[in-house]
Amino acid sequence: MELFWLWLPVLGSAIIAGSATSRPVEQDQRMSPEDEQLAEGYLKRFYNMKPSRGNASVSRRRRSLPALEEKIREMQQFFGLKETGRLDPETLKMMKTARCGVPDVENYSFYPNRPKWRKNTITYAIAKYMSGMSRADQDRSFLLAVKMWSDATPLKFTKVDRGPADIVLTFARRTHGDFYPFDGPGGVLAHAFQPGQGMGGDVHFDEDETWTNGRQGYNLLAVAAHELGHSLGLSHSRDPSAIMFPNYRSRSSTQYSLSRDDVLGIQSLYGKPTSGAGANPRPNNCDSVSLDAALMMGSDLVFFKNGQMWMTTTRPPFTTRSGAANLPNVGVQVDTAYDIPASGAVYILTGQRYLVLQGLRLNIGTIYELGLPSNVRQVDAAMHVGEYGKTFFFVGDFYYRYDERRRRMDPGFPRLIRADWTGIPRRVDAAFKLEGSIFLISGAKSYQYDVRQNRLLNVLSANPWSGC
Ligand code: ZN
Ligand code: CA
Repeated sequence: MELFWLWLPVLGSAIIAGSATSRPVEQDQRMSPEDEQLAEGYLKRFYNMKPSRGNASVSRRRRSLPALEEKIREMQQFFGLKETGRLDPETLKMMKTARCGVPDVENYSFYPNRPKWRKNTITYAIAKYMSGMSRADQDRSFLLAVKMWSDATPLKFTKVDRGPADIVLTFARRTHGDFYPFDGPGGVLAHAFQPGQGMGGDVHFDEDETWTNGRQGYNLLAVAAHELGHSLGLSHSRDPSAIMFPNYRSRSSTQYSLSRDDVLGIQSLYGKPTSGAGANPRPNNCDSVSLDAALMMGSDLVFFKNGQMWMTTTRPPFTTRSGAANLPNVGVQVDTAYDIPASGAVYILTGQRYLVLQGLRLNIGTIYELGLPSNVRQVDAAMHVGEYGKTFFFVGDFYYRYDERRRRMDPGFPRLIRADWTGIPRRVDAAFKLEGSIFLISGAKSYQYDVRQNRLLNVLSANPWSGC
């Protein structure tokens, strides 16, 4: 049996079997020649590793070892892996993940000086569709992908069917007219070019992949959204929740909306959406202003209305945009949402079910696990008050108080809402805590209470919170 040591550079036929005595090996790790070859190809392609010069394999080895180790460290740093400088299993696993073909290091071939489009209306065209999905589904995927970026910027996208377009989207396999041939199924899924003339801004999808609009194969919308980020001038992000993370994230719920990192990136190039007719997204139906649910994320308020999610700043000037950083678009009617800043958990309640997001983990359970009695069918509103470690649930005319530390409902609850919260005329639709105040939203009004004394401070319109 032949042994191949991890960190020997693989240069074509220069694989040296069982002779890795020139460097100490910390750990016995066996690697197939295929893996070594893959690693070298990966680092050349995405980390700008130069092929070493010289013919003698010995001199080549001496020269390229530190270079290889350095490149492995660079790659490990990018992905937040332990920086061992070796091809450990985690590193190899990361290298084998399907991904974008654009390199992770800058000053390579793609983005020397952060180019951007010098106009706000950008045209795109689909040069070639692929056969695995209907044209309508492909059109819809691209439309939703451009919308993610136009919602966050002053940019507008127009699809053109003929004539030149700024961004040309196409499917191709293997060698296809640029210097970056595709590699068959898996590996590289797509690549895109920086803004510019000619091929600038264009996106190529590997036709050998299974593209879908669901969870099977590779989701065309998710990959298109990523590649369009490149078309607009963004490079790769280290943030695994970002659309601009280089790897395909098959289990991720965050690949269908921009993360905070993506929004900051694209706004640093193009600015925020311009206010004015239609540019600032607003919930439809502003005459019935109420909200279904609301929660705070940092200093921004995320609110839900008719199955849609919006985010609004809590300080003037109030600006609103659809979607929210780091939250999946749940796509269903949300009854209640609250966050527990101490544990970084976000709860979203819909009917008898809850969904909790903590970091990148997502769990599902029933509201009865939160201590609510079995006669409760849904929760109207909820909020967490960190000062007391309590979560309040509003259900019909009553409210419950849950102790997060003891993990049980406080005795004496439920209590009548109007007994303790003066002024509330009817049920509570949404609740959240902002700095020293608790806001209960009921219909078109929001009721502000002092967090320590439960005292009604103010009755305001719910408008500022609802983007209307
Ligand atoms: Zn990419
Ligand atoms: Ca491929």
